[in-house]
Amino acid sequence: MLLRVTNLSKSFDGIKAVDAVSFDVAAGRLLALIGPNGAGKSTCFNMVNGQLKPSAGSIIFKGNDIAGMRARDIWRLGVGRTFQIAATFNSMTVLENVQMALASRERRLFGLWKPAASWHADEAMTLLDEVGMAGHARRACGVLAYGDVKRVELAIALSNRPQLLLMDEPTAGMAPGERNELMALTRRLVAERNIGVLFTEHSMDVVFEYADRLIVLARGKLIAEGDANTVRNNPRVQEVYLGTGKSFAPRATFAGGVRR
Ligand code: ADP
Ligand code: MG
Repeated sequence: MLLRVTNLSKSFDGIKAVDAVSFDVAAGRLLALIGPNGAGKSTCFNMVNGQLKPSAGSIIFKGNDIAGMRARDIWRLGVGRTFQIAATFNSMTVLENVQMALASRERRLFGLWKPAASWHADEAMTLLDEVGMAGHARRACGVLAYGDVKRVELAIALSNRPQLLLMDEPTAGMAPGERNELMALTRRLVAERNIGVLFTEHSMDVVFEYADRLIVLARGKLIAEGDANTVRNNPRVQEVYLGTGKSFAPRATFAGGVRR
């Protein structure tokens, strides 16, 4: 097991945003963290990536308890996350953005360092090739289509060679076609590199199609876990999603095991 989270809890002013949540992430697998608004998904996610200190519980990654560690140190241990490319980097080329990420891995000063054209260029091109963006290497990030920016962000997240990748709503704002492309790409890279993924996601289509396993939070508590069908058919899950506009009712197309 790559990541083992046990009894993870976080209170804000006495209110339990995350309440004794436990789950595992296995290498090469995608685990989706879902639940209605306010369920505690982001809080849970941000404790794993080091943005928030847990009130209680342990987060064991490769034998280290990373609970309460600084985000930067968690990243160095091999936990990657997708970040939005900051507006200030939009004028740089796709290649330069990835070169920058590779340099940052080596503790070079981020921001002060100007990418020498040759710096990690081969490795950066290899990463861009893997996400299907090698042909766009010399273009400025700012002119790319949204789906292509997301691919570059994925290449940047992989520059640290993470064993665990955290993705907070990776397909937010994307058209359905783009969503499927990005998630199919993620799944392929994850399998090739044996990376474990923890992701939050609003699109139930994406969750059911691409997650190997799901955990469902409601009011800070884990209320269900399992594969897509198990979770879909769980009455408690259907109940908490009632009125949210996100239907969990089994669709006829699912009955035969055909998902699309
Ligand atoms: P989700 O991501 O599932 O929508 P969150 O983790 O953002 O849910 O929030 C869970 C609960 O914790 C909510 O009730 C929210 O209002 C509360 N909460 C989240 N962050 C804070 C914070 N920094 N201070 C106080 N309350 C917070
Ligand atoms: Mg959230």
